[in-house]
Amino acid sequence: MPDLTKSRVVVVGAGVFGLSTAWHLSKKGYTDVTVLDGQDLPSQHYSPDEGSKSASADINKVFRASYGEQVHYQQLAYESQKVWLEWNDEISRSAPADLPEGLAREDKLLDLCGMLRLSATGDLSAHEQATLRNFEAAGTRAQQFSLQDPEDRKHAFEDPAWKARYCVFGDPATPEAKAKVGVLDSTAGFVLMGNACLWLHHLCSKAGVKFVFGEEGKVKRFLTAKTASIQKIVGVHTAASEHPSDLVIVATGAFTPLLVPQTAPSATATAGSLITFQLPADRADLLDRFSPKRFPVVSWGSNGLQRNGLYILPRTKEGLLKFGFRGTKFTNLEQPDASTPIYPESVPALASKIVNETIEEFFPELKGIPVQSTRMCWYTDGPGDEFLVDYVPGYAGLFVATCGSGHGAKHMPMLGKYIVEIIEGNETPFNQFWKWKEGGARPSNLIDLKDA
Ligand SMILES: Cc1cc2nc3c(=O)[nH]c(=O)nc-3n(C[C@H](O)[C@H](O)[C@H](O)COP(=O)(O)OP(=O)(O)OC[C@H]3O[C@@H](n4cnc5c(N)ncnc54)[C@H](O)[C@@H]3O)c2cc1C
Repeated sequence: MPDLTKSRVVVVGAGVFGLSTAWHLSKKGYTDVTVLDGQDLPSQHYSPDEGSKSASADINKVFRASYGEQVHYQQLAYESQKVWLEWNDEISRSAPADLPEGLAREDKLLDLCGMLRLSATGDLSAHEQATLRNFEAAGTRAQQFSLQDPEDRKHAFEDPAWKARYCVFGDPATPEAKAKVGVLDSTAGFVLMGNACLWLHHLCSKAGVKFVFGEEGKVKRFLTAKTASIQKIVGVHTAASEHPSDLVIVATGAFTPLLVPQTAPSATATAGSLITFQLPADRADLLDRFSPKRFPVVSWGSNGLQRNGLYILPRTKEGLLKFGFRGTKFTNLEQPDASTPIYPESVPALASKIVNETIEEFFPELKGIPVQSTRMCWYTDGPGDEFLVDYVPGYAGLFVATCGSGHGAKHMPMLGKYIVEIIEGNETPFNQFWKWKEGGARPSNLIDLKDA
């Protein structure tokens, strides 16, 4: 393979996939990398409240290494965890002037507050049991506290913070506990996602990666050159200019099927529902109850239950408490060829109903607390929830890195390393899972928005 590091690389999309790829390209010595994005993400602080629409532009996302039999993601998550913690450390030691605007020294990108994965059936799901087996092999089983296991309970009770999180619905060993089956995973937690994107954009810029944001960064089409046997992509066209390149990496999330229609049979844009509450500053009781010091990420994952797919993240320092629902996801098939993201300022009635019922049953103290925002956030789902990272067949110079499938954010620190390896034609533990797919099963839990 020729030395690619001198090639002109254009990355389209400055979300998790694009930023991570650009960063790892620069770490490997690539000197001519330009990232284009159609939104003004850094000036909006990658914040949905300031208008950012990308899946990556969110307050927080779950960090977990619990992946059942998909051990390749377990390994990637633990590999990424090390870098998240190094970044926490680096940020805490930085002079405020050396941090990107919007990020403060006390911000921890990764907070290992734990994740309580609940089951409402009498036993742990097969997925959870596989996770525990694979954690055993990874040496992290001792950091998992099953609600049903007296030994695990004893360990959790050794530390007051873990005891509080273990008993977030009451002590599971007592009859009055509202949740009795599940696992508190103390190697999990959440990442401050908008801040993480600001940080990685900052690292990329320092490393010499060029960025073009807003209308000037919005790619309209590819520049092509036809050879005898193959279409060659030789750059991209934005509203303002042309960007010639040797390689175009498309990392446009839910918009990928619109820019590269060949991905449409396997990449599907589907929306999850987010409802965020604003805990009032004078409600010390609620701020304490939902603080990550006492409250873990909570998710309901038992099949067949209506609440399946609901999750809650601990409140932020601004007092924002986010509920997400992905048990049913939504498409927008106004254009028949591919589901296309739209951004109403509300969520389907089903999602509101499930959140309200959960508050009624588990968190009556939240009744009457104001909703800060309701919105849809767009996943890019791939078959088997696998990422799609490969060259587009039939085209030279065109590569896609997408299909985060609802779990890409946590891998941001290390994801790009393997994307670059695959670009360079190297074998990695991921090629077999992330390779190009011609079609494949779509998620089964879909409703189109017009029917919701
Ligand atoms: C509701 C929801 C909850 C999630 N929760 C978690 C979680 O808890 N944990 C976890 O690990 N992961 C989670 N994920 C998954 C994670 O957010 C995604 O895998 C990841 O953010 C996808 O990043 P991306 O770069 O592919 O896409 P995006 O972040 O969407 O970035 C794509 C970028 O491409 C740009 N773009 C699009 N078209 C063009 C164009 N023509 N020209 C220029 N730019 C363009 C867009 O402006 C956008 O900025 C969740 C996702 C959703 C939707």
